[in-house]
Amino acid sequence: MSDNNPTVAEPVAQAVDAEGQAGPTKSELKKRAKQAEKEKKAAEKAAKQKELDAQKQAAEVDFAAELYGKLPLNQSQTRTNQTRIQISTLSADRDGEQVLLRARVQTSRAQGSKMVFLNLRQRTDSVQALLVVAPEKVSKQMVKWAAGLSDESIVLVEGVVAKAPEPIKSASVSDVEIHVSKLYLISGLEARLPFTIEDATRPITTGDEPEDEDDEKQEDAQATQDPAQPQFNRVLLKTRLDNRVIDLRTQTSQAVFRLQAAIGELFRQHLHHNGFIEIHSPKLQGAATESGASVFKVGYFKGNAFLAQSPQLAKQMAIAADFERVYEIGPVFRAENSRTHRHMTEFMGLDLEMTIEEHYHEVMELLDSVFLAIFRGLKEKYSKEIDIVRKQFPADEFKWREGPEGTLKITFKEANDLLVADGVERGPQDDIDTENEKRLGRIIKAKYDTDYYIIDKFPMALRPFYTMPDPDDPTLSNSYDFFMRGEEILSGAQRIHDSAFLCEKMREKGVDPDSMKSYVDAFRLGCPPHGGGGIGLERVLMLFLKLNNIRRASMFPRDPKRLEP
Ligand code: ATP
Repeated sequence: MSDNNPTVAEPVAQAVDAEGQAGPTKSELKKRAKQAEKEKKAAEKAAKQKELDAQKQAAEVDFAAELYGKLPLNQSQTRTNQTRIQISTLSADRDGEQVLLRARVQTSRAQGSKMVFLNLRQRTDSVQALLVVAPEKVSKQMVKWAAGLSDESIVLVEGVVAKAPEPIKSASVSDVEIHVSKLYLISGLEARLPFTIEDATRPITTGDEPEDEDDEKQEDAQATQDPAQPQFNRVLLKTRLDNRVIDLRTQTSQAVFRLQAAIGELFRQHLHHNGFIEIHSPKLQGAATESGASVFKVGYFKGNAFLAQSPQLAKQMAIAADFERVYEIGPVFRAENSRTHRHMTEFMGLDLEMTIEEHYHEVMELLDSVFLAIFRGLKEKYSKEIDIVRKQFPADEFKWREGPEGTLKITFKEANDLLVADGVERGPQDDIDTENEKRLGRIIKAKYDTDYYIIDKFPMALRPFYTMPDPDDPTLSNSYDFFMRGEEILSGAQRIHDSAFLCEKMREKGVDPDSMKSYVDAFRLGCPPHGGGGIGLERVLMLFLKLNNIRRASMFPRDPKRLEP
């Protein structure tokens, strides 16, 4: 049959066509046939490969597809009421238990293509989680996806608690880890992190951050390398405050603000137990009271109003209204252009005012008992948070005196004598500036081994017009300041409750009594002797923890140069 088959030989014989044109030559036709054969083979090969690929793909269908991925945005699709745990409750006792939790991915670290470590964080706590490829449980795709999660993503994790083979140093829970079986993304990131949480949590090395705000001017670029640990970046205070939400996520910040809340709570509890009631005084005032220079003026309809620079007047008026013992925790505004480590233009005032039965020391002692309750409460109930902060801000433990000797109380004269004996040249009634205040703190610490003390009997000239003079020496006053680590944290005094005497003292200080008529009127109608004090919440927190800058003790600090965020 093949002989009759007109394949290659015949057309060659007819190499000239009807129009007399020459056709392909024999060798050319051979070439073409070869080419056709080649193409056919290639097509067959490609088809085979395609089939193989399809088979392979079919074999690789992700069996774990349902066990990971992004959750729907809206939530609220179903409600399983499954308990979600807190990382802080994890310990070796829960070995083998299946748990569900929502956490941030502080870091994700892949080890090859089959394993990924996640550091999961909730507030001040963290735990290591592990995702390992396992037949029918965890797929390669799942591990790859987990390894690609951005740091700071929020995830929902299901897994089993397992004793750690060796203590895990990188997490606050060191004895167990979580073997992950399900992992879902609740919320990812749409922007780049300005710095890592790890860099922001590194211990502050000496000279790292200047005390005063003016030094914020230093460019971040100049100082992104930590001289003590050159392999790490350091994060300057300005950068932290510009990106406060991220900075607040560090375990240190989480602990700082739990301690801030604790101070407020301890203050409130102690006063509640001592018969005080909480009041809320207005922050908008019609006149610039106390000292006009440091008051913010704001537009108020067609005129102006002023932001209260303390609840002083209102709390005294509450005493005139027979509330006997009042306190307030509220914002205080100061229009002072003080760019220091301890001044802000808005801070939280812890204020109290109470009637006096016989002696203003009743007030001073009650204020002292408030501080002791705060210090003891922090030490007893918040040692975990204090330890967390100390890792980043190393400091000597805050010391105060307990027992029968009680808090150290010295007079202004004695404080002055200590400074003079230490070589400071000053007059007996000169104000104590910040530098000498700190010097006095060091002298007192060396002599009495305490970080907390009271100075009583300030010169009248250094106090506001409403301060009651000393009955024996009118150049002195029934007033006191409290100090922590050599810095003022409270100012207080007995107040003048007699309207005629008050007006006299106002005039002496250049204040027109008519400009504060409703305040003066409160005393014209009879008011019991009383006294009180004002404490700066952030200052107490800063000094207790030795944070070195008040801005770290304020969630969103306000100072002459900062109104955002
Ligand atoms: P300083 O002398 O430190 O400026 P002050 O004498 O003006 O303080 P007071 O008006 O007596 O302070 O306020 C009572 C307390 O309020 C202070 O002891 C301090 O704890 C806090 N405080 C005062 N001013 C500020 C401020 N600008 N920022 C933060 N806290 C402040």
